[in-house]
Amino acid sequence: MKILLIDFDSDWPNLALMRLARHHRLRGDKVALRRSRGRYPSIQRILHSKPDRVYLSKIFTFQKETREKRPLDEWFRVSRSVGIEMETGGTGIDESISLPDEVDHLFPDYSIYRDPPYAIGFITRGCIRNCEWCIVPSKEGRIHHCQNLEGFVPEAVDRVVLLDNNFLAWEGSIGYIEEVMIPSNKAFYMTQGFDIRLFTEENIDTIMRCRWMGKHFKKRELVFGFDSIGIYDTVAEKLQMFRDHGYSTSSLKFLMLYDFNTTLSEDLRRLDLLRRFGAQPFWMRYRQVNGVARKNVGYVDCRIEEFPGDIFGFRGCRLNISQFLRYLTDRGVRIPERHFPRMRKERFDIYFGPTIRRQKRMGGFGSIPGTFRDASLWKWAETAILT
Ligand code: SF4
Repeated sequence: MKILLIDFDSDWPNLALMRLARHHRLRGDKVALRRSRGRYPSIQRILHSKPDRVYLSKIFTFQKETREKRPLDEWFRVSRSVGIEMETGGTGIDESISLPDEVDHLFPDYSIYRDPPYAIGFITRGCIRNCEWCIVPSKEGRIHHCQNLEGFVPEAVDRVVLLDNNFLAWEGSIGYIEEVMIPSNKAFYMTQGFDIRLFTEENIDTIMRCRWMGKHFKKRELVFGFDSIGIYDTVAEKLQMFRDHGYSTSSLKFLMLYDFNTTLSEDLRRLDLLRRFGAQPFWMRYRQVNGVARKNVGYVDCRIEEFPGDIFGFRGCRLNISQFLRYLTDRGVRIPERHFPRMRKERFDIYFGPTIRRQKRMGGFGSIPGTFRDASLWKWAETAILT
């Protein structure tokens, strides 16, 4: 049989497709992979390769940048009308679809992605929490162990990408770090970040002995979620704990959900906390899933120009900051120029030129009349700026 695997939009190698590849190769089938990077694969080209079966996996619930604006459903309809039968899966199609058990535990066939220099997989699935913006609880259920490293890491590979959603919530996690992950001397990157609430005085030193690296495995980095203002005090307390234990907080990166249920002053407050500790923010815009609507009506509740210092002039990915600034501009927030990151003019124009021009069309910088809805929110701004 000829099997065609279509990876619709994964950033990382698609684990389910690699397992399907192993499954079919063990049965003597021929397997080919096509990465369509968010675009609809050409139906003519699929017909041309005459596959007996097609599997398509779509990870993201939203449509990535694509020239074609047709919904995926229509593409399926057209495919079927010309006789292409396919099986589909992935969170972007239906979160309830999963691989059969006998396939789900197969060692991934990395060769379809030309043997990347890292392995990828889950040690645990699920989560102990129930954040309303997140699909993990409904998709994966309560936290449970699902596989050991030897189930998906080739011996010769020393970099591991972990897709776990809340690894530390698994009761065996600290023991596993101590007995398996540290002795393996492999480097680990946790794509979904850690739950900082689960770092304690007792476990922090053990966790930090492991080689946690950033996305490109070039520098030490730990990633955390800082999705709501509700955990502000905990994050502040844990950042101080990192310092007290002698760990640099500059290697900590925080995924910051926005455009969901926070206000401008809350977003600035989160940002300011990270600035004080030299940690890095990474803004992640909410994409509506499971019908959960945004709750940030009345977002602009303060005047950004009265924020002391330069809020975006410290650390972080410039492209990511520019996306957040553009979001603020779209919401009518006027951002004083001193808040923009300092960098060479040509690069500045690439990242921030459109936002600056837009602001100028809105009537210049820092001239918007506004009021603080809650003056107490700003007490932190008077006292909290240490750097
Ligand atoms: S802690 Fe993270 S994985 Fe768990 S429900 Fe909340 S956002 Fe989802």
